[in-house]
Amino acid sequence: MNILITGGSGLVGKGLNEVFMNSENNCIFLSSKDCNLIDYKETFQLFEKIKPDYVIHCAANVGGLFKNMNNKVQMFEDNMLMTMNVFKCCHYFKVKKVINLLSTCIFPDKVSYPINENDLHHGPPHFSNDAYAYAKRNGEILAQAYNNQYNMNIINIIPTNIYGKHDNFSLKDGHVIPALIHKCYLAKKEKKPFVICGSGTPLRQFIYNIDLANCIKHILFHYDQKESIICSPNDEVSIGEIGKKIAQLFNYEEHIVFDTSFSDGQFKKTASNKKLLSIYPDIQFTSLDIGLKNSVQWFIENYNQVRK
Ligand code: NAP
Ligand code: GDP
Repeated sequence: MNILITGGSGLVGKGLNEVFMNSENNCIFLSSKDCNLIDYKETFQLFEKIKPDYVIHCAANVGGLFKNMNNKVQMFEDNMLMTMNVFKCCHYFKVKKVINLLSTCIFPDKVSYPINENDLHHGPPHFSNDAYAYAKRNGEILAQAYNNQYNMNIINIIPTNIYGKHDNFSLKDGHVIPALIHKCYLAKKEKKPFVICGSGTPLRQFIYNIDLANCIKHILFHYDQKESIICSPNDEVSIGEIGKKIAQLFNYEEHIVFDTSFSDGQFKKTASNKKLLSIYPDIQFTSLDIGLKNSVQWFIENYNQVRK
């Protein structure tokens, strides 16, 4: 069985690498260097060569709050084009099953909590990431269209914030956990304050990339329906608590400063994992303390090579 993983060099792709390590399947992990999925011709040629049975589509233009706020055109165009090209080729080459990744940050800003899978189109997303959110929401509409019109089998997975080894630790473009790990590392080295953007009050759920990869594998092999599935642990923590945990790992707690001139983004996006637990009751979530410890250790050990 050929399983093609787009975005194989990214945070989720590296988690899948680890989880599929001893699989009997032939897993092909792609990066943008292997194929620019924004280009339809290149995408078609790649599918023609690999002829995948299954596709896990993780490639995307991804980033934290500040990347989403400052690059709306690219977040919309790149993500629309990649998804359109990948789905079109999956249809043409008769791929048996496709897993497509959405995100809980594309849900409506004003919604009743906890959010569930049916809430996706029930109101506009938060303005800070509207371009990314609409590109991803359009991917969900397109998946439904292919499923209904051509009887395809595209399943949308909706992860909450993801973190782990191999994250993008960019100070400017990264998500909150990798950005704060990098910031705290530099603050300690340069004996400066550890600055957390915003008030620290917003709430988030976080899933470790290996746990998400296990969910994806389970859904690929053991889920026969087409409805979307939210992947998230139940626990919710504030950004301030996350900053404190990271600072503790660096032994630099006394130097935390909140800079409220930065945006807080969406206050919360509490999502329900009821459906995930109904189809995958054995899922074990890595605790935030262990996941953060592993991520910080990996970051320090690989400082020269990490994406930053
Ligand atoms: P990531 O670490 O930034 O990795 C992105 C991947 O996409 C990389 O492998 C990258 O290849 C590839 N890529 C980017 N542009 C490409 C192009 N034009 N052609 C081909 N490949 C391209 O992202 P991630 O965090 O793993 O995200 C994976 C999926 O999860 C995405 O759909 C994202 O929206 C979703 N998601 C992420 C989060 C999160 O917190 N990270 C939360 C919810 C949902 P290179 O390495 O060559 O650049
Ligand atoms: P989101 O969950 O989609 O909003 O994306 P992020 O992972 O970027 O988290 C954004 C939240 O973390 C907001 O409340 C930010 O104000 C807060 N935050 C604090 N410091 C940072 C930082 O250095 N980078 C990022 N991306 N967010 C930060």
